[in-house]
Amino acid sequence: MVVPETPKPHIMVFPYPAQGHLLPLLDLTHQLCLRGINVSVVVTTGNLQYLSPLISAHPSSVTPIVFPFPSHPSLPPGVENVKDIGNSGNPLITASLRQLRDPIIQWFRSHKTPPVALIYDFFLGWTHELCDQLGVPRFAFFSSGPYLASVLDFCFGNIDVLKSTDPVHLLDLPGSPVFEVEHLPSVVRLCLRSPSPDIISIKDEILMIFLSYGCVFNTAECLEAKYLNYVRKRVGHDRVFGVGPLCSIGLDPGGAAGKSDPLMSWLDGCPDGSVLYICFGSQKALTKEQCDALALGLERSLTRFVWVGKSDPIPEGFEDRVSGRGRVVRGWVPQRAVLSHVAVRGFLSHCGWNSVLEAITSGVTVLGWPMEADQFVNAKLLVEDLGVAVQVCEGDGTVPDPDQLGRIIDESMGEGGREVAARAEEMRQKLEAEGSSFVDLERLVKELGSL
Ligand code: UDP
Repeated sequence: MVVPETPKPHIMVFPYPAQGHLLPLLDLTHQLCLRGINVSVVVTTGNLQYLSPLISAHPSSVTPIVFPFPSHPSLPPGVENVKDIGNSGNPLITASLRQLRDPIIQWFRSHKTPPVALIYDFFLGWTHELCDQLGVPRFAFFSSGPYLASVLDFCFGNIDVLKSTDPVHLLDLPGSPVFEVEHLPSVVRLCLRSPSPDIISIKDEILMIFLSYGCVFNTAECLEAKYLNYVRKRVGHDRVFGVGPLCSIGLDPGGAAGKSDPLMSWLDGCPDGSVLYICFGSQKALTKEQCDALALGLERSLTRFVWVGKSDPIPEGFEDRVSGRGRVVRGWVPQRAVLSHVAVRGFLSHCGWNSVLEAITSGVTVLGWPMEADQFVNAKLLVEDLGVAVQVCEGDGTVPDPDQLGRIIDESMGEGGREVAARAEEMRQKLEAEGSSFVDLERLVKELGSL
């Protein structure tokens, strides 16, 4: 007798088109496919290319649902991804994508075996109405952690109080953290300063996120246990999953770096634990004043370094003055591979969440310079909760004092930084040993299979 095969669960995934959001959700999708789930991925034409590695890995279980990017009067034609316009474009891109509601409903209704659930990026909170209409449960995917999600939830839930308070005491959260208003996530500050209709919609949608059927975070229990537990209490159920860091179990777990990469060869020639890696993510460009100060600080320090300068205006002659000890790289660097190199011990970072996770999985000390978005929350987690970072500067427009910067760099990379370095290594080992993310991944798969 032939036993009919149990059909695989079919779900819909809706990523947000910014690298830092898109890649972790595709990494999660990869893990779900490996565990027997079929996935239809909502994508706009210009972002389809980013799905190629996923489709190649799972040609029979991943189906892109491609829609033309809906136009918006304030968005230049051709812009479909945050990298084309920068973080300030987020409210406009979100507003454009809201127009996909009806096309998605139509697609859904015409499908023979429509998805049983939606996993959506937390920037797409408007999908609550969509899912209500379709009658499917939705899972919020946070490319970041529950600390940030709780800060956003608290701030938007108390936005009127925030208008007249500085600093802000987040009393409900574990440890009641205190933030200056300037250090709250950018979207909260926007809502306080210039609450346009688009921003108000984002606020209202973020407040709906915790009403989702489930919440999936790109974090691990050993990094944010108290915030995961806080969210569990806040939402009143256990469908809260910490499945990260997804970068280490994703489509490119090693963080591709060619063996012949000149930077990797240079690192091979450096003593173990001697190099500071400097990179401010994929978006940020430093001003001339900031570059001058950083360059001077590096010159005054004795530390070896790699500075991913991209198009930063780096002072003339700087590279010659530090030659042998430091390198400036103008292009894209295989960051994860660089951070895992034995020569690298420190990471001067803007504390973007992906950089944070990559630093922790590599066991390097973070020298934090949070600038905007969620970076102050991330830096606080690293410095105050986990003790794996020191803060060297803060603020988007701040110009650090070169002498002080040089001193902190030397201290953190030398004897003075031993304790923090030991904690960073301890955290790396804990994360590697924990395995809780796999437990939560299995729980999530079971949950999706039961729908
Ligand atoms: N990145 C990289 N090479 C570069 C610059 C950035 O591989 O030259 C990667 C980095 O590894 C990380 C991402 O880009 O995965 C940056 O994400 P993050 O959340 O840290 O910052 P954002 O770019 O969103 O501000």
